Amino acid sequence: MNLSLALKTLSALMIVSCTLLFVMFRSAVGAHQSASAEKTVAITIDDLPGAVPGMEHAVGDLKELKRINRLIPQILNSHHAPAVGFVNEFKLQVTGERDARAALLQFWLDAGLDLGNHTYDHVSLYSTPLADYEDQAIHGEAVTRVLMSAVGKKERYFRHPFLETGPSTEVKREFEAFLKSRGYRVAPVTIDNADYQFNDVLGEAIDKNDTALAEKTKRAYLDYMDTNFKYYEDVSNNLFHRNISQTLLIHDSELTAEVLDPLLTNLQRRGYRFVSLDQALMDPAYATPDLFIGPQGFSWLVRWKLAFGQKADWQNEPDPPQWVIKMSDQIRQAKRPKQE
Ligand SMILES: [Zn+2]
Repeated sequence: MNLSLALKTLSALMIVSCTLLFVMFRSAVGAHQSASAEKTVAITIDDLPGAVPGMEHAVGDLKELKRINRLIPQILNSHHAPAVGFVNEFKLQVTGERDARAALLQFWLDAGLDLGNHTYDHVSLYSTPLADYEDQAIHGEAVTRVLMSAVGKKERYFRHPFLETGPSTEVKREFEAFLKSRGYRVAPVTIDNADYQFNDVLGEAIDKNDTALAEKTKRAYLDYMDTNFKYYEDVSNNLFHRNISQTLLIHDSELTAEVLDPLLTNLQRRGYRFVSLDQALMDPAYATPDLFIGPQGFSWLVRWKLAFGQKADWQNEPDPPQWVIKMSDQIRQAKRPKQE
């Protein structure tokens, strides 16, 4: 065989193998696309058994917590939406109320929902030394694990408070290895949002019997969530050329108790079907590495931009309306303990 014939044969072979690879790639992506032509989202709910308006570290009023922790699982069930609720066990340790507060978590298990670990005290991995943070994870599973094992379940997910995943690659990886050794997987978030700010304003409106403000806040939140879904669907389409199986983060709050029903209805209208976190994470998009290091907490879709050679432009994530941000800031300022 002369040289030019050899080259021709080689290039023909390369074309054939490249075409074959491309066809294989297309069929793999296509297979996933046809399986996910319907939009899917997993619901995750943080700060069980209840996020208190305007205060990071409050345990909440038991009567109010009973109301929201009965209502939220009921609404999820009525929409056939599986969910994982992430627990801060410090909220269970109130003298005279320990059993009643553990029973709040039982409402979720009785509704067939799942629970996960959100550290004991809701601390940040950015500002807490790794050894203390690991203690927080262990301390934060004591009651939840017992309740779950009584219904034949295991606690399998960990959600970083503030979505702060570590101050350095070493700490981040070391903590992930620790989680793995205890049977946990990190629960990522693709649809992030500032629902706590709306919850602050709604709490104030309820305290002041201001029904007009309460209604305005709920409407603004639902509009804002539309904007959010659109934003992250666009990021998903830009990175993966399809709408990946999304994971939504909301909080166990008065706001969620009030708006979850219309929120889930809106998502169904948007074409979403609700899936478990297990199912959502089977989407191959979640194999994309999260390379972000820093004090901010934000969507994994934005973090994944780094793996695609893009900037993690978390500053461009949609904000609540200015009036909500301003009122929430004022409420938090007023409730902050006074410095001596
Ligand atoms: Zn939280």
